[in-house]
Amino acid sequence: MGIKVAKFGGSSLADAAQFARVRDILLMDADRRIVVPSAPGKRCSTDEKVTDLFYACNRMAAAGESIDAPFGAIASRYHAIASELGLSLDLDAQLADVRMRIELGGGADYAASRGEYLNGLLLADYLGWDFIDPQQGIFFDEEGRLDEERTQSKLGALLAGREHAVVPGFYGCDTHGNVKTFSRGGSDITGAIVARAVGASLYENWTDVSGCLMADPRIVRNPEPIRYVTYRELRELSYMGASVLHEDAIFPVRIAGIPTNIRNTNHPEEPGTIIGYEAEEEESPYAITGIAGHKDFAIIAVEKAMMNAELGFGRRVLQALEEEGISFEHMPSGIDTMSVVVHEDVIAGKKERLIARIKELCHPDTVEIHSGLALIATVGRGMVRSKGVSARLFDALMRAGINVRLIDQGSSELNIIVGVDNLDFENAVRAIYRAFVVRENRENRW
Ligand code: ASP
Repeated sequence: MGIKVAKFGGSSLADAAQFARVRDILLMDADRRIVVPSAPGKRCSTDEKVTDLFYACNRMAAAGESIDAPFGAIASRYHAIASELGLSLDLDAQLADVRMRIELGGGADYAASRGEYLNGLLLADYLGWDFIDPQQGIFFDEEGRLDEERTQSKLGALLAGREHAVVPGFYGCDTHGNVKTFSRGGSDITGAIVARAVGASLYENWTDVSGCLMADPRIVRNPEPIRYVTYRELRELSYMGASVLHEDAIFPVRIAGIPTNIRNTNHPEEPGTIIGYEAEEEESPYAITGIAGHKDFAIIAVEKAMMNAELGFGRRVLQALEEEGISFEHMPSGIDTMSVVVHEDVIAGKKERLIARIKELCHPDTVEIHSGLALIATVGRGMVRSKGVSARLFDALMRAGINVRLIDQGSSELNIIVGVDNLDFENAVRAIYRAFVVRENRENRW
């Protein structure tokens, strides 16, 4: 078999007991040869993440204040892990060096990256595996974007021929040789980059949930787990708020054709969710894969008779948005109507100016902004093959007494988006779930 890259999130490495679980998991499968750790996360809901403590150190150092308190808390977290596991590395020397660099103005990225760096050192010592510093192998370009080519070749060369390695998550190196971090939650991205660099057969992302669920558990009670989802479906679901992975962690593995497996460190017996690429997709027992949604959108509705024959109309509407620095989400349109869906907060304080500008540029019959819209995406690769999916969806919403204010099906037949009143959001999600999952299960049972 090939190499498996296993990334462990902050809660999976929050204390010595979790380190022991991680080691057991790694040793269970000889293909798990590279591990990407996050910084220690919360041990309970009132605890602090080490990364947040490091950001606090940086802020206080920059303000000329003493960093005794947050740095003391950080040091005791690492000391507890090292002493409980009986590690031999010189942690005090490492901590002193990190503290000095933060106090000398190392900056936010340097400070934040030390959470992963130190956890990586501890884990490498505990496992007896090689420690690889991503500052030597993951590179950003002048614009701060990942330099894929350079990273691929340097990281590939650094890892080539190693039996086992620990590569801390979350950071790399900028064009001046300084530490630079990804955005928050970025260890997921490191894992995906490492998986691509070594041509892994699988990228395992170990966290504290057993994969993705078909709906938000705060809305639907005990939703079914998703066993298999394609990268395209996941993109649609996570865009709508279903978050399991950092969004940018999809790209490196997707283009390399490497599946990702979301697993639960506290329940390694559960298979989790496989995120696969389209060519290898597996049949789903349901016509849909998942439901996700968000409240607080607004529709900018523009109407003008004979709009379809007027050259440049749409461009001018969008120009008005662009001038105000507003990006839009969807654009469902009719013959004489055009509507643009935006997040409520991006037009806050700009509504009047926007309406005036659209009137000036487009001379519409009417232009109105309707607020309080929730969007719900019903996603499923199986939709192409099954008949009557939309009929079932709209029937379910009708039976639940929910008025659909907008429909957008895009061109992929992968996703049907409906817009409903904010107040109907939860009921609509439950109605769709009942129609596609609960009813399906009941019918299969009889
Ligand atoms: N430790 C970083 C954060 O808290 C990165 C990560 O955990 O993925 O955002």
